Amino acid sequence: MFAKSRKKSNCVENSNVHVRTGDRVYVLSGKDRGKEGEIIAVSHKEGKLIVKGINIVSKHVKPRKAGQEGGIVKTEGAMYASKVQLVCSHCGKRTRIAHKIMDDGKKKRVCKKCSSVL
Ligand SMILES: [Zn+2]
Repeated sequence: MFAKSRKKSNCVENSNVHVRTGDRVYVLSGKDRGKEGEIIAVSHKEGKLIVKGINIVSKHVKPRKAGQEGGIVKTEGAMYASKVQLVCSHCGKRTRIAHKIMDDGKKKRVCKKCSSVL
């Protein structure tokens, strides 16, 4: 897992990551192609994300403390955000995001397929 950015940011504009933590995504390439999962972490700096149950990698861990066992730990690896497609929570389809400016001036994400606010 990559280090979490200290700066708390929900800013999508300055990032090449089109999805957020908690979004459901569809994997387009790699060994988990065709699977769906929930995003558990996003690195805007690297343009990568971690999806629950997707891109499982084996990490070889050495025992660091007394009593701790070393071995192979399976964990989710980071993958490029461009390799996933957002799955709309309303219509369940793989979709792209449109941005809509609401009456109060706030920018909202909108599903291109069913036009619901995400
Ligand atoms: Zn939709």
